[in-house]
Amino acid sequence: MTKTGSQPVYKRVLLKLSGEALMGDAEYGIQPEVISRFANEISELNAQGVELGIVIGGGNIFRGAGLAASGMDRVSGDHMGMLATVMNALALQDALEQNGTFCRVMSAIRIHEVCEDYLRRRAIRHLEKGRVVIFAAGTGNPFFTTDTAASLRAVEVGAELMLKATQVDGVYNDDPRKNPDAVRYNELSYDEVINNRLAVMDTTAVVMCQEQNIPLRVFDVHESGNLTKIIYGEDVGTLVK
Ligand code: UDP
Repeated sequence: MTKTGSQPVYKRVLLKLSGEALMGDAEYGIQPEVISRFANEISELNAQGVELGIVIGGGNIFRGAGLAASGMDRVSGDHMGMLATVMNALALQDALEQNGTFCRVMSAIRIHEVCEDYLRRRAIRHLEKGRVVIFAAGTGNPFFTTDTAASLRAVEVGAELMLKATQVDGVYNDDPRKNPDAVRYNELSYDEVINNRLAVMDTTAVVMCQEQNIPLRVFDVHESGNLTKIIYGEDVGTLVK
């Protein structure tokens, strides 16, 4: 990690934002003040020339596995989950545009009237032109997660760093919400995460980051300013590399 400075350390970054992050303290859906806080930080970084791609989850609305557990066909459930990510993406796009930030939602499933199709070259062009790109609908395939979509898009667009926004301030050896003695790791290797089954991202996503050598930083999304600190080189949360 380069030293903390007055310039961004990273030029192009992929941020994975879970649907859960958008709920704030609600049980479901999107809290407008939460999404606008995220949008403000993203807009500021965008104005400073940082190229940001964002993969957004859908767990605040629907998850395919949960729907399947209540009796629905898994593939239909996953289609609903992917559509939920599109709704979140549109909400974030709106919040960014209210700040005057240029933004494009690109979906892995075709919904022409609502947003653009995901096309790698076009996504890179948008980033180069200073637009925030929100990648919606995960990978476009059932049985995958938006974590895997995030590592896939990070590799495809050539991101230097993948940021996983979570509800806690890094990776612990146990669930810190249940175990007060849980210890937070400052740095981990990909193998440590995979072999110890640490709750970072799903294994497919971690393996892809490992194979493609993309460092991954896990941080608390609810602490304002964290995203900026990381991009300016501060050692926030847990680094997996
Ligand atoms: N999903 C999918 N394929 C993908 C990505 C997502 O089928 O490539 C579906 C899946 O049902 C998942 C839901 O979309 O449960 C929402 O995504 P995820 O659970 O990753 O959202 P998050 O937990 O980040 O909010």
